[in-house]
Parts: sequence; C-alpha cells; structure tokens
Amino acid sequence: TATIFDVLARSAQRYPHRDAAIFSQVGWRCTWVELLQEVEACAAGLQALGVRQGDRVGIWAPNRPEWLLTQFATARLGAILVNINPAYRLAELEYALNKAGVSVLVSAAAFKSSNYLGMLQNLGVGHPEAPQRLPQLRQVIRMGHEATAGMLNWEQVMAQGQRALAAGQALPPLEALNCHQAINIQFTSGTTGAPKGATLTHHNIVNNAMAVADCMRFSELDRLCIPVPLYHCFGMVLAVLACTVRGAAMVFPGEGFEPRDTLAAVQAERCTALHGVPTMFIAELDHPDFSQFDLRSLRTGIMAGAPCPIEVMRRVQAEMHMTEVTIAYGMTETSPVSFQSATDDPLDKRVTTVGRVLPHLEVKIVDDQGRIVPVGQKGELCTKGYSVMQGYWDDPERTADTVRDGWMHTGDLATLDEQGYCNIVGRVKDMVIRGGENIYPREVEEFLFRHPKVAAVQVFGVPDERYGEELCTWIITKPGVACTEDEIRAFCRENIAHYKVPRYIRFVDELPITVTGKPQKFVMRELMMRELG
Ligand code: ATP
Ligand code: MG
Repeated sequence: TATIFDVLARSAQRYPHRDAAIFSQVGWRCTWVELLQEVEACAAGLQALGVRQGDRVGIWAPNRPEWLLTQFATARLGAILVNINPAYRLAELEYALNKAGVSVLVSAAAFKSSNYLGMLQNLGVGHPEAPQRLPQLRQVIRMGHEATAGMLNWEQVMAQGQRALAAGQALPPLEALNCHQAINIQFTSGTTGAPKGATLTHHNIVNNAMAVADCMRFSELDRLCIPVPLYHCFGMVLAVLACTVRGAAMVFPGEGFEPRDTLAAVQAERCTALHGVPTMFIAELDHPDFSQFDLRSLRTGIMAGAPCPIEVMRRVQAEMHMTEVTIAYGMTETSPVSFQSATDDPLDKRVTTVGRVLPHLEVKIVDDQGRIVPVGQKGELCTKGYSVMQGYWDDPERTADTVRDGWMHTGDLATLDEQGYCNIVGRVKDMVIRGGENIYPREVEEFLFRHPKVAAVQVFGVPDERYGEELCTWIITKPGVACTEDEIRAFCRENIAHYKVPRYIRFVDELPITVTGKPQKFVMRELMMRELG
C-alpha cells in the first residue's frame, strides 16, 4: 500500500546519510535525506505553479538530476507523471502532450542533436499570439539556470518551493494520496510502431520494484549503475524504485548511454550492480578499452527488454564478474516485470530462460483460440495480477483489446517448462511463416550469435511472392573483422535446416534502435523492402 513517496521517505529515515544518487557527468550527488529535502522543495515549487492531484506533469529529458526530483515530487503531490520519450520530434511531442493533457512540462534544453526548446517554440510555447498547438499546456520549466522567454527555469521553481516551505506553507496531507491512484503515464518503447501510453498506479510499480529488488538480493549496501533511460520503466522502476525500496545507491554515468562512461562509472563508484538491454552489454563487452576497467565490484543487475543471447549472458558473468546477473522479462503495461531469474536459480536456467513468474502474479500460455496449451508448447503469454496497468490512457478500445478479464495479452510467444521456467520465443508479430514453415527469428539469432565474427544480429521476415515471407538477417561484425555472406551461409548450412537459412544477409554498421536500445525490426523490414523493390 506504500506510495512512491512513502518509499523515499522510508529510505531517508533508515539510511539518511548513505548515498542516494550520483550523476557522475555533472558532479551532482546527494544522500537519502538530502534527496528527500530536494524533492519536497520541488513538490512545493510545482504546487506553487498550481499542480494538484491528478494533474499531468510531463517530463522530456535525458537522465539528469531534475528527472529524479520530478519523479518523486509529482508522486508527493499525487500528480501524474507523463514520461516523454527523449527521441521524440515535433509531431510526436505534440501528440503525446495533447493526448495526456499535460499542463506543466519539465524539459531539457536539448539532447544530442535535438533542440528541445526550438521544437517547443515551434509549437507556440512562449509566443502568446502564435497559434496555440498545445492548448492544455500552461507552463514549461526548462532545466538549468538560463532563461528562455515564456518559460520558467528550474532553479526559479526550486527556489520558490524552498521559500514556500520556509514560510511554513504545507504540502497536501499524505493521507490524500492513495496507492491505487494513477501516478504515471509511461510510453512503451515503440519497438513495433507508435508508442502507447500505459497508465500505472503507485501500487503497480512500487510492488514490482520490491519484487525485482528481491530477485537481485538488493540491500542498502548495493550501488547500481544506471545507463538505461529514466523515461522508460527500466530506468524509472527497475532502477530508481528498486534502489529506493532498499536504500541502494543510484549511479548515473551520463545523459545518454555511452559504453565507456558506463564502465568508468562502475569502476569509479565501485558499483555492485549494472542494468542494461542486451545491446548495451554487448557494446560494453566489445569496447576496445574494456579490459582497462576494474569491474570486480560487480555482482548483479538486470538484463532485459529484448531477447538476451546466451553467449552474452555467459560473457557478462565471466568477464564482468556479474555472477548473480538476472534476466527479466516484462513490458511497460505490466509495471514492467512479470518474470525474473533469481540469484539462486540453477545456472543453466538463469542463462537460458527468463526465470519464473514473480510472486503474486498469474500466468498462462494460450493458443490463438485462447485455450491453454500443454506444458512446453508455444503460445501467447498472458499475465494477470497487481502489475497489470489501469489501461492505455484515453484509449478504452485498445485497452479492451489488450486486457481481457484482467489478463494482459502480451503479444509475446513463450513456453513454460514443468518447473515454471519461461522461455520467450519472440513476438507473435515477428514470427516468420515461410512456405508454410514457422520460423522463430530468436532461434536463428541465437544460432548466428555463435559465429565467432558476429557481434550483433537481427533476423526478420520480408514479404515474398513465392514463399509468403523470406528470412533476412542484419549482422554487425566484431570490431575490425570482415565477414562474407558465403561464410555465414556455409555456417548455417552445416547446422540448421535449409528453410531457416536467411535468404538475405546484410552487414551493417548499426541497427535502428529505440532510445531504450531495442532493435526495431519494423524499420529494418521497411528498409529491406525498399531495397528489394
Ligand atoms: P511497443 O509496445 O511500443 O512496440 P515495446 O513492446 O518494445 O514497444 P516495452 O514495453 O519497452 O515496449 O517492451 C516490452 C517488450 O520487450 C515485451 O513485450 C517483449 O517483446 C520484449 N522483452 C522484454 N524483456 C524481454 C526478455 N527478457 N526477452 C525477450 N523479450 C523481452
Ligand atoms: Mg509492447
């Protein structure tokens, strides 16, 4: 029944002077009690702007201290935090802000090549006479000290909050908060197309954070390195909240993911845990400076978000010393995790499966008629319990389509074994049917990964007149290594059935990925279709 704010207050009471958060790049650090004070000032500042329970406060920024403060401050007020994807451009931003009815937006000035302030100005922010494309937006708070016409700056809002508290102004009574209230609209990664806004409650995500922290045996002695984006549930729940419920320290290596900065932060802060999607771990392991870093402090962490290649899991355990690394499976709509391996699961299960279902959740695997399939057979994974979202924000139709009788239909194909260990086979939509044969891209990817020259690989289907679909693979080779199509084909022919040998093999320098680091097969498919005419 705890709220997000309760778990922060509890850590501030239990571990007041232990490290809470460290932002290495900007040299910002605070203890739990300091974090609580900053959060209260931020909440008071937002309150002074008129933010009330149920209001939507958007945040559009990479990993920065203000993100963390806004997350807890909105929770303190009972306002709904709307996480805006840092990769959004004008049209997507306009859509998301209007869809969620955001009244106050906290925004960075820029991120990578994106000029956030410029985009906001193009939407009419700061120009009273200009056409108002964001009718519900009242205020924009820009991060940092500088001023921009028509926007507040972060420091002003914090200062106002501090003055209000000092003058004895109260925040709303804690009893006004209810753990079943919506607290967060989280947009999904956009792996399959346009992201959807999942509406989540305190109850959903605080309980998930606790379960996840237990799987990693987290305590206040842990220090987690967080290169995953805060805007996504991986950062906000599995990192921030999982640390907060146990008083573990959060270490942020930078605004966006950089493999070298991540390794440097682990070493400098003696981190015991590290999170990442598989592509991040691959980039770290294959970094030319990898061996320069002392990573012996590492113990655990989560690999999740996309299929975790067995080979990468083994390397993470052996070369990064993460002997207790866990795999988690989940989705934004389920707060997010429903399966996670535990540190005491047998080693082979921890590398080859996503573990067993978390406590207090139910799971079933069904065929396309909705019937439960026998143990070991493939079908669509469905989950039920405290973690299932309230729904997609302002989208009852899509909600009814996805959550039926309390069961979240994940759109993922999976198997469960006798002991309940789950294998994610892939997405229902990604299954390739070639000449009547079902091909699971994940299986072919795992196989290609074993080729010594392959650093990263994606397999997907493209339409084909003769076979319905043909298999295509995109491969990134290890740094400085050349590889030919014939080599890959020969490797396949010796080892896998002919119909699983990709018809099209392409070597690429990078993959289209979401900000969360996930490969976007729909983009690869489109690009290939264009190439093939
Ligand atoms: P969108 O729904 O916008 O297309 P998305 O599904 O990638 O994007 P998320 O909610 O971030 O958005 O990701 C959930 C999905 O990630 C799951 O449905 C699943 O396909 C995949 N996934 C997560 N963890 C794992 C894992 N351990 N193994 C395989 N796939 C995983
Ligand atoms: Mg999804």
